[in-house]
Amino acid sequence: MSNANIPPIPNLGARTDEVTIFAGPCSVESTEQFEEVAECVADLGLKWVRGGAFKPRTNPHSFQGLGEEGLKIMKAAGDKYGLLTLTEVMDSAHCELVHSYVDGLQVGARNFQNFSLLKKIGQVTAESKKMVLYKRGFAGSIAEWLAACDYLTAEGNDNIMLCERGLRTFETATRFTLDIAAVPVVHKQSLYPICIDVSHPAGQRDLVPSLAYAAVAAGADSLMIEVHPNPPEAKSDGPQQLTPDQFRKLVGELREIAAVFGKKIV
Ligand code: PEP
Ligand code: MN
Repeated sequence: MSNANIPPIPNLGARTDEVTIFAGPCSVESTEQFEEVAECVADLGLKWVRGGAFKPRTNPHSFQGLGEEGLKIMKAAGDKYGLLTLTEVMDSAHCELVHSYVDGLQVGARNFQNFSLLKKIGQVTAESKKMVLYKRGFAGSIAEWLAACDYLTAEGNDNIMLCERGLRTFETATRFTLDIAAVPVVHKQSLYPICIDVSHPAGQRDLVPSLAYAAVAAGADSLMIEVHPNPPEAKSDGPQQLTPDQFRKLVGELREIAAVFGKKIV
């Protein structure tokens, strides 16, 4: 067999030497709550803070997010601490509004195949080219995910960050089963960078560090990590959110792991 027939070894994480962290609370709950996390994120020299203003809750009686008020809190904190902001847009009707407040728009797992939403986000971001963090659905294949990116790019925005956040399987020990192999597969099959959301598959905060170490070692381009000043009081996803102290410790560890691969955490 000639060399030409040997498939190339994927160049893990070759897209950039930076591993971006998208950290912040599951939900934006108040100015005080969000600013405490934003300050911690900025002090660590990170670039992005995340938070949910429109929340896709399984139970309609659960906290639905602060809506536009949450977006205002995010924008103010981003300006105050010099951070970029990322939030989920759930509804085509909210795309312009969300786009006007934040730097990155997230498509949640539950909207994985909401093609009209993807198209609308593509249109709204066509000029600004703001980052679209597109989460894989919990029953979505990588092929479906990569194919659907064209709904965004067809409108003119290819600033896409794919995000693996765990799949639904027979396993119940974790909230979702994290498909870490999505990192090399996406790198091999596309030109897009990939984020690993380590909080939603873990479901429990003590599992989060191990998933984060694995994500950096696997070559993920970015990580999503939920952080809350007081997780037991969180209005959503309390059990999986790290305290600021736990997050600071984890970022220190991730910086050491990233250095092994010649990368830096930002
Ligand atoms: C989130 O990031 O807050 C979220 C709701 O994630 P997912 O869509 O992956 O469940
Ligand atoms: Mn959450």
